[in-house]
Amino acid sequence: MDPVLLIIVLAAVVAAAFVVVYLRRRVRTAETVDRSAATVARPHSLADRLEKSRTALGGRLRQVFGRGDVDQAFWDGLEEALIAADVGVGATTLIVDRVRDDMHEDPTEARAALHAELLSVLNGKTRELRLENSPGVIVVVGVNGAGKTTSIAKLAAHLQSGGSSTLLGAADTFRAAADAQLKTWADRVGVEIVSGQSGADPAAVAFDALQAARARNRDVVIVDTAGRLHSKHNLMQELGKIVRVLQREAGSVDEVLLVLDATTGQNAMAQIRQFTEAVGVTGIVLTKLDGTAKGGIVVAIEQEFGVPVKFIGVGEGVDDLIPFDPEAFVDALLADA
Ligand code: GDP
Ligand code: MG
Repeated sequence: MDPVLLIIVLAAVVAAAFVVVYLRRRVRTAETVDRSAATVARPHSLADRLEKSRTALGGRLRQVFGRGDVDQAFWDGLEEALIAADVGVGATTLIVDRVRDDMHEDPTEARAALHAELLSVLNGKTRELRLENSPGVIVVVGVNGAGKTTSIAKLAAHLQSGGSSTLLGAADTFRAAADAQLKTWADRVGVEIVSGQSGADPAAVAFDALQAARARNRDVVIVDTAGRLHSKHNLMQELGKIVRVLQREAGSVDEVLLVLDATTGQNAMAQIRQFTEAVGVTGIVLTKLDGTAKGGIVVAIEQEFGVPVKFIGVGEGVDDLIPFDPEAFVDALLADA
C-alpha cells in the first residue's frame, strides 16, 4: 500500500476513535446530570427524615434480632434499644411483654411482633383536626423554642392548600420579635395576621383575631402564644385567660395544640403534664423529629397520656409539617431493623 494512503487511513481511524470516545463521554455526563436532577426533585421520604432515629434504633435491633437465641440477653437488648430511642420505661415494658407473648420464642417473628405492638399503642385515635366552630378556633401553646410559630405557619399553609382559609392571631405579645417573626411567615405562606402592640393583653389580641376571622369569613383562626413569661405561673395564667376568652366568645375552642420539641426527650412528658393541667390539651405537634435519634418519644407520649400526636415536624421548610400517620411512622422507624 502507498505509505501516504496508509498514513491517511490511520489518521482517519484515530480521529474516528476520538470522536466516538468524546461522544460517549458527553452522553455519560448528560446521564449523570439527569440522575442528580431527579434526586433533587424527589421529595424526601419519611424514612429519610427520620434517618437519625431509623439508623440508631435499626442498628441496635439488628444486633438483637441477629442473635440465634431468645434468651435473657435478647429481651434485655430489645428493652435497651427501645429505651435508648426514648420509648420510655412504661411503654417499653408493656411492648416487650407483648412481643414476648406474640412471638412464642421464635426469633424470626420478633420484628413483625415489635411492629404490631408499637402500632397497637398508637392505633385507635382521631388525629384529624376537629374543627366544629365557624371559624374553627385553634390555640397553639408550648415552651419557648419548641417550634410554635413555625408550626403555625406550616399548619396555615397545610389548611390553605386543603381549601380552608386561615387567619393568624399573634398573641405572643411578650417577646418583641415574636409578631415580626409570625408576620414574616404569614407573608411567606400568604395568610392574614392580626397582632397587637408590644405588651398588649394577649387575650385581647386573640379576641380581635377571632372577630377579624368572622368578619372576613375565614374558615380557621390560629392563635400563637408566648412560651415564656416572668414565671411559669404567669404563663399558665395567661394561657388560661386566652382560652377562656375564646371559649366565651366562640362557644368552645376546637383545638388546643401543644407543640413539643422531640429533641428534649423525656422533658416533654413534664411539659404535657403542666400544659394539660393549665389549659387542657387536645392534640400534640411534635417538632424536630428530623434532628433526633429519639423518635420513640411518640410512643411514650401516647402510651402515657393518650393524647394524640396530630402533626409531626420533620424539617424547617414550609412543607415539613405532616399529619401523623402511625403506620407510616412505625414503618419508617423500623426500616433498618
Ligand atoms: P417558638 O418559640 O415555639 O415559637 O419556636 P419557633 O417556631 O420560633 O422555632 C424555633 C426553632 O425551631 C426555629 O429555628 C425553627 O426553624 C426550628 N424548628 C421548628 N420546627 C422544626 C422541625 O420540625 N425541624 C427542625 N429541624 N427545626 C424546626
Ligand atoms: Mg414563637
